[in-house]
Amino acid sequence: MKLERRHSLSIKLLRLVLLWALLVGVVLSFAQILYDLRQERNLIDSTAAQILAMSRDPATQAVYSLDREMALQVIEGLFEHHAVRFAAIGHPDEPPLASRESPLASTPYRAITDWLFGVEQSYSIELFGRAPYNEYYGDLRLTLDTAPYGNEFLQRSLIIMISGMLRAVAMAMVLYLLYHLLLTKPLSRIIAHIADINPDQPGKMHIPMIAGQEKNELGIWISKANELLDSIERNHHRRREAEANLLRMAQHDNLTGLPNRSMLQEQLSRILTDAGRRQRGVAVLCCGLDDFKEVNEQFSYHSGDSLLVAVADRLRANSGRLGSLARLGGDQFALIQTGINEPYEAAELAQTILDDLGRPFELGGHNISLRATIGITLFPDDGDNAEKLLQKAEQTMMLAKARSRNRYQFYIASLDSEMRVRRELDKDLRGALERNEFHLVYQPQISYTTHRVVGVEALIRWQHPERGLVPPDLFIPLAEQNGCIINIGEWVLDRACQQLREWRDAGFTELRMAVNLSTVQLHHSELSRVVTNLMQRYGLPEHSLELEVTETGLMEDIAAAAGHLTKLKKAGVLIAIDDFGTGYSSLSYLRGLPLDKIKIDKSFVLDVLVDEDDATIVRAIIQLGRSLNMEVIAEGVESAEQEAYIVAQGCSEGQGYYYSKPLSATVIADWMRQYNNKESVTDRAQRT
Ligand code: C2E
Ligand code: MG
Ligand code: MG
Repeated sequence: MKLERRHSLSIKLLRLVLLWALLVGVVLSFAQILYDLRQERNLIDSTAAQILAMSRDPATQAVYSLDREMALQVIEGLFEHHAVRFAAIGHPDEPPLASRESPLASTPYRAITDWLFGVEQSYSIELFGRAPYNEYYGDLRLTLDTAPYGNEFLQRSLIIMISGMLRAVAMAMVLYLLYHLLLTKPLSRIIAHIADINPDQPGKMHIPMIAGQEKNELGIWISKANELLDSIERNHHRRREAEANLLRMAQHDNLTGLPNRSMLQEQLSRILTDAGRRQRGVAVLCCGLDDFKEVNEQFSYHSGDSLLVAVADRLRANSGRLGSLARLGGDQFALIQTGINEPYEAAELAQTILDDLGRPFELGGHNISLRATIGITLFPDDGDNAEKLLQKAEQTMMLAKARSRNRYQFYIASLDSEMRVRRELDKDLRGALERNEFHLVYQPQISYTTHRVVGVEALIRWQHPERGLVPPDLFIPLAEQNGCIINIGEWVLDRACQQLREWRDAGFTELRMAVNLSTVQLHHSELSRVVTNLMQRYGLPEHSLELEVTETGLMEDIAAAAGHLTKLKKAGVLIAIDDFGTGYSSLSYLRGLPLDKIKIDKSFVLDVLVDEDDATIVRAIIQLGRSLNMEVIAEGVESAEQEAYIVAQGCSEGQGYYYSKPLSATVIADWMRQYNNKESVTDRAQRT
């Protein structure tokens, strides 16, 4: 806003001072004029008195001697005075001895002066003879015309008035000048400087001090304003820093400092626009660490964090080939490879990353090599926008993980339909229990000491109305995710316990029932109560029910798992650890858990005769079980040779297709009877 001159303080002051000075000037001049008026009136009176006094003696002489000549002379003398209009000497009772009269002076301001002083003023003195007689002879009369006095008075008044006004104007001008110099001008300069200040950097330009004004209000105002600007600048700076930090935090992952998902999406969108223009390919690699949870559990979350930072650093080493690198959350990272021509370039990068992560990391004195699974999508073939490419890369990675790990997988359109199937299954699963679509099958467990069936494992089957039999490996994880597993799990427990009761009543008096527990179930607070109730309801003795928990499930939260297992043990069940050997765990934690049995995972048993590593693992697990006083059962026994090997190593029980596939309750009952009888016959034969 520009200052208009008429709004300037000095002009306003000038107007005010002028007005007041004029007013005061007028009032004071007026008072002076009034005073002057009085003085003038007095002057007329005193002049008259003086004239009369001077003429008294000759007038007395003339009237005494009745000398007309002399009287006339006296009168003439009186008329020497310019204001005298009439003079007479004589006795009041007689015609005057001598008199003279002249007309009133005609002046332009006569009307005013007549009003102020009267038209004329008349005076007289009495004329007496000498003492001691003091005889009265007559009067000397005199009339003065007031106009000459009035004229002088008016002139003076005019001068007084004009000088009063001039004084007022001069004073106002001086004040205006002073005010302008001392206040308006410096203020205008300050305003000009303030207008130049950049509001974003208020501290960069100070208002300069005005020479000579340092100590007065203006100077103090300037220094205070400068201090204020400085502090605004400081606050600005702090706010900008905080905003920048917030932005960084909003766009970056705190732990690794890498961009987060939202920033990655922004960067990827930009990269895609650019690649589209140049007609170049882009690969989106979604890299998920395998078994990172276990690392967290085995060491500590703090170590897990350090490991993630180290992983991020290793990934950064490839940043020369990358358009962007981000952490998507948890143990997942995304890498954007720009400017590629052929898919194999993405495959090469993926393999480099897998190799990089496979090199051992140093973590708290341990060497850890990580495995990872990478899902890859390609622009423009697999999608034309950031969200789609990223989402498909993540899906590909997850599905690849579900199959096997430590590898990379390109997105293929069929995976999309797999995801759709999973979503539909997820929906259908919610009503499956009510619709009675589940049933149990049972697989026998053979004791290598008695050669009899000592137990059966209950395995759930889902008969989907359209899709047919859906394998548990597919729907159990879905049920775990959507929470159905609690109800399904309770149904399995109930059915299995009821079945066990029936079999025990039918003569399988020593039979044990093994039931699989999901991790979600294990951590459910109601589980031990449910189990106790079932055992009571079906009158099942201690140790007739065995619950299988997976190694990875236990590792997620060992402390909590230990608590739950202890409660379950109190309820009188046996605890087996299923799929043992597949988890990424040290074996030492086993000691702290109330476990009764180890189930060697079928993947080791299947290759035990052909793969030396698997054989070593199987031997080690059996040794470990023995040293911890636990039963060891091998699952996935498919041949006599496999059985012979594990029996030779000291394994106490076995389960697998070699004996029987999982069968329905009625079929397996016959099978068990037959098997036990056959074994008894061979036993008897061997004895005889
Ligand atoms: P699991 O508990 O390890 O069960 C053993 C799996 O190995 C079963 O697969 C069984 O059919 C299969 N199997 C048995 N012997 C052999 C063999 O000689 N060779 C081969 N190749 N496989 C064999 P299934 O029934 O498909 O179950 C898969 C998994 O689903 C189970 O693995 C278990 O983790 C889960 N599961 C099954 N039923 C239930 C259940 O009622 N509740 C829960 N939570 N999980 C269940
Ligand atoms: Mg099992
Ligand atoms: Mg298993």
